[in-house]
Amino acid sequence: MLSEEAAGHAPLGDTPRVRAGMLAQHNAMAAAAAPLAELSASISSLASGTAALASAGVAGREALLTAEDSAGVGEVYAQLAEFGEALQAQLSAVVLAPLTELQQTCLAAVRRSKAFDEESEALEAAHRAYLSHSREASLETRAVAAQELDDRLATASLSLLDTREALREACGGLRAAPQRAVGELLVAQLSYHQSCARLLADRIELAKALLSSADQTSQCLAAESAAASALRGAMPRPMSRDTATAPLVEGWLQKGSFNLSTPGERSSLHRLRPWSRRYFVLDPSGKLYFYKEREAADGGRASMQVPLDLRLVSAVTAVNGPLEFELCLGSRTLRLKAFDLADRLKWTEALSSYLASHGEEREAAQRAYRHRLLARGTGVRDFGGGEGDAGESSNGTSLCGYLFRQDSDLRGRWRRWWCEASDEHDFAAAAARPSLGHAPQQRGVLLPQQGSGAPVLSIDDAAAPLPFREAARTVFPLATVTVREARSQPLPFCFEVISPAGSALLQASAQHEMAEWMQVIQNGTAACLGSLGVRASAREEEAALPVVREVAGNGACADCGAPAPTWASINLGVTICLACAGVHRRLGTHLSKVRSLELDTRQWSATQLALMVALGNQRVNRCYYARPPPCDEAIDATSAPAAREAFLRAKYERRAFTARRGQPPPPPPHVLAAAAAADDAAAIIEAMALGASLDSPAPADASPAPPLPPPPPDAGAATTGDREDGAEGGSGSGADGGVEGGTAADGAAAEGAAAEGAAAEGAAAEGAAAAPVWSETLAREHAGRTPLHVAAAEGAMRALELMLLNTIGVDPEDGVGKTPLRVAVDRNRAEAVSALLTRGANISHADVSGMTPMGSRLGQHGHEELAQTMLEYKRVTLLAGQSACALSHPVQTAADLANRLAQDEKLLAQVIVDE
Ligand SMILES: [Zn+2]
Repeated sequence: MLSEEAAGHAPLGDTPRVRAGMLAQHNAMAAAAAPLAELSASISSLASGTAALASAGVAGREALLTAEDSAGVGEVYAQLAEFGEALQAQLSAVVLAPLTELQQTCLAAVRRSKAFDEESEALEAAHRAYLSHSREASLETRAVAAQELDDRLATASLSLLDTREALREACGGLRAAPQRAVGELLVAQLSYHQSCARLLADRIELAKALLSSADQTSQCLAAESAAASALRGAMPRPMSRDTATAPLVEGWLQKGSFNLSTPGERSSLHRLRPWSRRYFVLDPSGKLYFYKEREAADGGRASMQVPLDLRLVSAVTAVNGPLEFELCLGSRTLRLKAFDLADRLKWTEALSSYLASHGEEREAAQRAYRHRLLARGTGVRDFGGGEGDAGESSNGTSLCGYLFRQDSDLRGRWRRWWCEASDEHDFAAAAARPSLGHAPQQRGVLLPQQGSGAPVLSIDDAAAPLPFREAARTVFPLATVTVREARSQPLPFCFEVISPAGSALLQASAQHEMAEWMQVIQNGTAACLGSLGVRASAREEEAALPVVREVAGNGACADCGAPAPTWASINLGVTICLACAGVHRRLGTHLSKVRSLELDTRQWSATQLALMVALGNQRVNRCYYARPPPCDEAIDATSAPAAREAFLRAKYERRAFTARRGQPPPPPPHVLAAAAAADDAAAIIEAMALGASLDSPAPADASPAPPLPPPPPDAGAATTGDREDGAEGGSGSGADGGVEGGTAADGAAAEGAAAEGAAAEGAAAEGAAAAPVWSETLAREHAGRTPLHVAAAEGAMRALELMLLNTIGVDPEDGVGKTPLRVAVDRNRAEAVSALLTRGANISHADVSGMTPMGSRLGQHGHEELAQTMLEYKRVTLLAGQSACALSHPVQTAADLANRLAQDEKLLAQVIVDE
């Protein structure tokens, strides 16, 4: 059929050539595919790198956020991470996906060309079979072969076309796709970096700031560690002496102990510690070594103790006999004793000549030493010295640093508190932040807020956890504060800060530090008084207490006679001048509670005002100044502070000028009780001046004849019993009292001829005439009760206030365990109940039958107002109790209060139901 044509068919002849061409194309494709794979791999790694960058950004942001995100660094990192994610998405969409597709195309083309290989082999086989048939072969056989060849040829031709198509496509893709991929990659990278650059360009200042702050921090750290190591290097330590240099002087001496008192002072420490024999060597470098053994000194071995730096010695002084001398080192002294006079001369001459010849060097060393003490900062307590920032000069009014304070609870632990004495300016800043401390609390009761702008001493519990830090703060307004050294404390460097709202026992870590704190607090108080004086004149018209000035004798200071006094002692009921007010403060609040007449007027209650009016300078001086001392002991407006203090201590502490000098038996208990019942403040002051006790229970029988006060001739009988007083307070009545003994009464009577004496006698007569009577009724009602009970039960508000101001305990018990609060509740004295509660009376004090003031109203009518008062009070104490952990007075815990409140409210509910 078509066998001959078929055999000469063009494509057939071309097959090897075609195959060779296709092989070349195939190889080219394979060659191109290798970099393609590489490209795709590197794009993948780029994408994962970007992802890593993004996650690094996120991690960095987290780190910064957990520390402190300053100026939105976290935002920058979030943005960068977003850019990275966008880049990754873009790359996989426009680069990786087409590349993968291309890879598939290439694979298909390779498969296609393999298939064509097979087809063409089959075609060649068919061709060979066709040609192998001889001419003699049957026509059929040849026809079949020709047919087979034709079929193969057709298939191969088709396959060739397909393969060429596939290869073309793959090759085209291979040329275009990498170009596109790289182009897209470049564009994506560019836009990514552009976005990053724009973002970062905005924050370049921030980055610079961060870098410089990091630099600063590391510089600071380096400086601190350098300073610390320098300090460490400068610390004194035991060291061995350089034996190459000859000592200035050496020999045996008796060494006493180091003593913290000042040079002249005799301390018991010297007597407690015996002398010890030591071999002393004074080095030319100014170091004084001491050894137990002389061999140690010769061998230059390290002495067991820090050698004494002579440059810190301020003086060598002689003490106690010819052999002893002392080296004064700032606040310490070292006592030494030579064995004979020649030795002592040798040593003191050597020491003195060293001191004399090294003046400048010593000055520098002592300055450096002081500086080191100050810079030591938060040191270890036992090492003492210089803790806290004592850098302020001693006439400043602000100081801060750590002090130790004793807890007021039973355990009395000493803990470290952060203390700040701040002046007006600082306080204004401090007041800006909310603080419970600025509403001072007394025994859990909220008091009216102090006028702000006054100097304060605030004490923060340094160890309190942050949420409680504000609550654990005590603030003492310096205007009402007294500070004094606590000499009765067994620990050194203790001082007490006392205010009407409470007190704090504080311990500094060195003598000079304690002195500084006390000085600053006193300066603050003085500044306060001074500025108050200035302000007082500015708001004269506002002065709310002109009525107090009208009271007899109040035109002049009760103590020195200075005109127009502006202060008052509220528990004594007198008006005093500024100078005397300062001394009154130093007497302590148990003797005198000082308050301004012109400032803190809001602190005056109506009862206190009434009390001031009921007393006054004239009446009180009739009791406390009935027998004036000789002229040289009395004070006037110009007296020096020391004279003032001596006089006021005699007048109020020893009560040396009362009508009865010395220690006669005090007035019997019924006198005070009767005065309390009659609400007679003047009689109470008089009885107290004569030594009546607020704790003595009232007698059960009536005393119709009041023996108070005895007429002057009676005093003669008393003087025989008070001989020992003649030395101390007795100078009040002059030398005649001591010398003439029994005639002292006459002497006193002679003095009584003076104007004041006459006044005192008049007062005595008047007092005797007006003295309150302890009647049968009162005796029956109040037997066994203290005057406080009587005043509370009778609702004698002035008497109650006066006694509360002059006593410490507000909860004395009568014979059946009832407190003044309880009797006031029983008698429905709402005003007295309020006064007692404000002073911290215990609302839950049970009597012998277990009844509390609240429960005692069971079954009684007409007590609704009282119940309201007490419930309100309980809520206030409950609130205050939550923040009372740092108050100077022990307060029940909040849980305790809540518990008791629940109990009492149950009782109250019972009452209401019953009624
Ligand atoms: Zn005065």
